[in-house]
Amino acid sequence: MNALARLPDAIVILDPEAMEAYRRDESHVVGCPPLAVVKPQGPAALKELVRLAKGEGHTLVPRGAGTGKAGGCTPTPGSIVVDFSAWPGQIELSRADLCLKAPASTMLRDLKSAALEAGLFYAPDPNSWDQCSFGGSLATSAGGVSACKYGMTRHWVLSVEALMEDGEIHRFGIPTVKNNSGPNLAQLLVGSEGIFGMITAATVKLIPVPRQHLTLLLPVRDWHELLDLPSALTEAGFLPNAFEFWDPAVLEDLRRHGPETARRMPGEALALLEFDDPDCMTEAFLERLMEVLGPVAEAIQIATDERQREALWSVRRTTSSHLKERFPRKVSEDVVVPRSQVREFFKATEALKLPMVTYGHLGDGNLHVNLLAAGETAPEELEAQVTSLFRTCLDLGGGLTGEHGIGLAKREAFLKLSDPYHIQTLRSIKQALDPLGVFNRGKVI
Ligand SMILES: Cc1cc2nc3c(=O)[nH]c(=O)nc-3n(C[C@H](O)[C@H](O)[C@H](O)COP(=O)(O)OP(=O)(O)OC[C@H]3O[C@@H](n4cnc5c(N)ncnc54)[C@H](O)[C@@H]3O)c2cc1C
Repeated sequence: MNALARLPDAIVILDPEAMEAYRRDESHVVGCPPLAVVKPQGPAALKELVRLAKGEGHTLVPRGAGTGKAGGCTPTPGSIVVDFSAWPGQIELSRADLCLKAPASTMLRDLKSAALEAGLFYAPDPNSWDQCSFGGSLATSAGGVSACKYGMTRHWVLSVEALMEDGEIHRFGIPTVKNNSGPNLAQLLVGSEGIFGMITAATVKLIPVPRQHLTLLLPVRDWHELLDLPSALTEAGFLPNAFEFWDPAVLEDLRRHGPETARRMPGEALALLEFDDPDCMTEAFLERLMEVLGPVAEAIQIATDERQREALWSVRRTTSSHLKERFPRKVSEDVVVPRSQVREFFKATEALKLPMVTYGHLGDGNLHVNLLAAGETAPEELEAQVTSLFRTCLDLGGGLTGEHGIGLAKREAFLKLSDPYHIQTLRSIKQALDPLGVFNRGKVI
């Protein structure tokens, strides 16, 4: 560890107590104690870290803000955690090129604000947008509420700078909308959860900021009424920038134990719908929308000002942490099915009698399924429940995770349930880029 203590351009933490917090992220995974935590402040530190890792057989575990929900930044045996919070650099925004470059250490909230201040919009908005880092959001290709219209982080990335296994920082891609020089290596790094290299900076595209928002609260008496709406809306030519929901159990828990703003939330179940089309505030738009919603819209409420809109969104934003506080040992999965299969998904899970509650991104079929009694369930039974949940999604053309990633939390299931060719291909790429397992060994694959 002496070599680490002498690392150039870095803050090095070796005190076991100070390193304790680095064993966790926001998943249920608890990692091993790391060998060290390093906060690099320049390329010399990264180069030396790679040299040491190769020489000593260590693995480097990149970490942003630790809000991940898959155990991706938690240490495995022989890990040095590389905390990017002190990585230098500034946000550089170009109105002419409609893009923004930022270091991995930038907080996502600061990046989004910088874009807004210039009248521009960076859409990716994981619900942790005010706590997570840009680097972490790139490495997980974070989704969020607006992904149903604007896609995930990867859809916004033009180029990526990353530390690779040769100890150097390389740039992949160029900051242009069009670039067709062979397979896109920047995209290989986005969403790779730190297993191919460590992202130090990236350039993302921006668009003009949407000026109008129509925010609607849609309470329903029978929550099954909500389940066909995601595809009914798209079939009718509507594309909401948000379509969130709470099932009856989650809604009731929020009403009874949640924040003050949640106490008066109406309905057996509830959806939060938002549109940002340029004409979304016109009567014609609303009329057309009501036609598609039909009788479901009986008790619809429209947020008339920014304060009301913010009150609705604040309840959605706190749902995850509220449930975590109430049920600390719960297990939460962020499965995904095509939006046309949402009803089938609930039909299948009801038939399986899975003891789950659900909320999340109904509009794009990314459902946050919570097994609240996981802590009191026998491990084999819990595993069987989770496996049936995953199989149900796969059978419907969906996947194990819509946005949180695989990390350590879903690794076993990913390996067991995926097409072996898919896993072998990922392992071949890992072998080509990082044969010694310098980067986040033991994660994902
Ligand atoms: C309340 C709450 C709500 C959330 N809502 C959403 C949501 O709506 N959508 C969503 O997608 N996620 C969501 N998340 C999960 C998480 O916040 C996001 O995935 C986030 O983008 C992770 O960023 P981070 O900086 O905390 O990364 P970390 O948790 O620190 O790391 C996440 C992964 O990225 C890797 N990594 C981090 N930095 C780098 C780097 N510089 N180079 C290479 N790899 C790196 C880590 O090794 C790890 O595998 C939520 C989390 C919480 C706690």
